[in-house]
Parts: sequence; structure tokens; C-alpha cells
Amino acid sequence: MTTAESTADPSLKIVQDATCTFCGCVCDDIDLHVKDNARIVKAVRACVLGKAWFLNHEIDERPSCLIEGQPATIEEGIERAARILTEARYPITYGLSDSPAEAQRVAVAISDWIGGTVDTTTSVCHGPSGMAFQGVGEVTCSLGEVANRADLVMFWGSNPAESHPRHFTKYSLMPKGMFLPRGRKDRTCVIVDVRKTKSAKAADVFVQIKPRRDFEGLWALRALAQDIDLDPQQVEEDTGVPLATWRDLMARMKRARFGVIFFGMGLTMTRGKHCNSEALLALVRDMNKYTRFTCKPNRGHGNVTGADNVVSWRTGYPFGVNLCRGYPRFNPGEYTTADTLARREADAALIIASDPMANFSQPAREHLASIPYIALDPKETPTTRAAEVAFTVATYGINTGGTVYRMDDVPIPLRPAFPSPHPSDYDVLKGIERRVRVLAAES
Ligand code: SF4
Repeated sequence: MTTAESTADPSLKIVQDATCTFCGCVCDDIDLHVKDNARIVKAVRACVLGKAWFLNHEIDERPSCLIEGQPATIEEGIERAARILTEARYPITYGLSDSPAEAQRVAVAISDWIGGTVDTTTSVCHGPSGMAFQGVGEVTCSLGEVANRADLVMFWGSNPAESHPRHFTKYSLMPKGMFLPRGRKDRTCVIVDVRKTKSAKAADVFVQIKPRRDFEGLWALRALAQDIDLDPQQVEEDTGVPLATWRDLMARMKRARFGVIFFGMGLTMTRGKHCNSEALLALVRDMNKYTRFTCKPNRGHGNVTGADNVVSWRTGYPFGVNLCRGYPRFNPGEYTTADTLARREADAALIIASDPMANFSQPAREHLASIPYIALDPKETPTTRAAEVAFTVATYGINTGGTVYRMDDVPIPLRPAFPSPHPSDYDVLKGIERRVRVLAAES
């Protein structure tokens, strides 16, 4: 239920329990103080990143729709967008991690109607984990279970103190839980990383592994879980960590009543990539022979987990899905956007709430600039500037409602603070979908 309280100041309202979509923690306990129904002046309980997200929010003054840089009506933009997509031979849809689940669902439907490829920003962050989940599976849990039960909390290649500032306090280390009445004192924190990050200060045990040797470290732990003898010299040479340290860690893992490993891009985007994620998922599965053990990727963007969920429940796969044969095919490397663009395969694109023009490789950016594409974003970006059709949309969570998935796959409702003159991405996508269906039926 949205709770908007009025205050003694008639120009001020308070939106209670609003949801922050800046990072995958998706904190849903923020009280927003809204002045003149037009700007947020206070965000109670938000961290430094959340405060910046809410307090710096301004309505973009560009028109809601630009065609070739010229102002146009939303209807004209939708018509042009639908024609670009239906006339293309290999259209691609990309982004989605900063849109609510309702809009993501429509984007997948559009890709299906036009027989295109749908891909999300997961392909450039936790894509290797998405592949590993398909191969190994995931022993998982909610962040609520972590808060109430986890007495051994591990972070591998992840630095939540800087990337997810409320992770420790709200979910993983500090909370007093049902089975951990003393909170932090009842938990052991282990951090495995290649350098002493800001998070390492919170660790009871810090394991500094050799760069690019995560797979070897995880495989050593898997061997120790099976009581297999290892050569101490070889292990230290491979991982940079003495065997005795790995043995001590395994003993702690076996002793735990409830263990969890949060892993980040320090694991998934270094040498080994999906093999690293597979090794970690397999280790966690192995540990369940001894105790309850779980794992979760620490996800970045507000609704990137929603993108994985929605694309999965619409197609069976989380990202990099091709629908041109009328059924889904999953092949990262072939159907992931950075690759389809760099190989100059796509001939039109629908880019939603992401900025490939700012962060893709040079060949991918050059090709995107050479094809007609549509961009939806609340802000002006290098991608919206070069788009044939650019929609300025309302910001999800601040101006529009909907549903986002927290990093533990729990859906959370959004409680918007004030309206925007711009349409939501759901409204624009729904308009494009309606028109695409008509044009596809005519062709
Ligand atoms: S931890 Fe993340 S979701 Fe929570 S307030 Fe900070 S930025 Fe927002």
C-alpha cells in the first residue's frame, strides 16, 4: 500500500516505504520527503548512493519524443519505431535492467513479434553466472533467510561496502536475526579477493587470492570438501594462498549452521568467467552434504534481476535469446548484443534504459551508429543522441510504479514520489507492441 503522509507544510508530502532502484539491494524502507509534488528534498534511510539517486533527480526538459533530433509526437515516434523494427531482417532489443518488470515483459513480446534477439545488460556483467545457472543450478535463499540464519557470510570478488552500501547493515552482517540474536557477533565474515577492498575491513578472515586464480581456489576448496589430499606447494603456487588457509576455511564452512557466498564481477568477469561461476555453484552444492549452504550473485542495476526473471519466464533463458525461428535459442557470444553489433549483423535495434554508445567496443558502437535504432531513457545519453527515434521516459520508482526484483529474486513494488510529464517506458513499449502486431499481420 502506498503511504503518502501530509505534513504541517502543505507543500510537503512524505512517501513512506518507497523503493530505491539504484542498486540490486532494492531497499524498500525509504521515506521520501517531496516538495511541491515536483522534487525530493530528503530520502530517510537511503545510503549515499541512494540519496544521490533521489535528491539529484530532475525531470528532463527535452521533448518526450525526438525523431532524427526533431521534436515529434509520441504517436509519430511509435509509428516510426514500429516500422523500423518490422522492416528489419535482424532486429535486436537490448538493455532492460533499469525498467520495471511490466515494461520488460512487453519488450520481450515485441522481440517475439518481430522475430528478433532479446538481450539484457546481464550479458556484460553476470552473464557468465547466467550460463552457470543453466549448467549447474543454484542453491539459493532469500536475503531474509541470510539476515535471520546465516552465521557464515562469504563474499567472493565482490565489494559491497562500495557497490551496495546497505548490504552489510540491512541483510548480511549486522542484522539481529531470529537465530542470530547478537547480530554481527553471531556471524563470521570471510572475504576472498585479489586486493584489500573497503569491504575487507569488515572481514574476520580475509583471503587474498592471486589475480585470475579464482577457479583454482574454488577447485581446491571442492577437493577439500571431498577430503582429497592436495600438494601444499602446488596449491600455494596456483592460488597464492597456503593450503593451511584453505583447510581452515573449509573447516569453518563445514562447521557453519547456515553459510552463504555472495559473489561479484571480480569472479565472473575475470579469467575463467562462467567456469568460475560453475565452480562456485558446484562448491555450494557440495557443501550441502555437510550443512545448509547457499549462494547469490551481488547484482548491480536496480532491476537487472527482474530482467533475468522476465526473459526467463517468457523464453526459458535469461539473456542473449534469439526468437527469429519462432522458438527461443540461447547462445551467449552469438546472440549477445555486444557481439551481434561488433560482427555487424543487426540491422535495427531497440535500446531500453541502457547506454551501449558509452560502454560497448568501438566496432559495436560504430555499427550501432550506422543502423536505425530506437532509444528509451529518462536522461540524455550518447545512445539517445544518436538514435533515429529517442523517447524521454519517466524514471521508474520515482515517477512511475511497477515491480522490480531484488537481487535475491524477490519481487518488490515501487512507490512513486511524484508524476512526470513524460510517458513511462511501459506506455511507449505497449504502443510499439500494438503497432508492431498490426504491421506484422499486414506483411
Ligand atoms: S543500498 Fe542500494 S538500493 Fe539501498 S539505498 Fe543504497 S543504493 Fe539504494
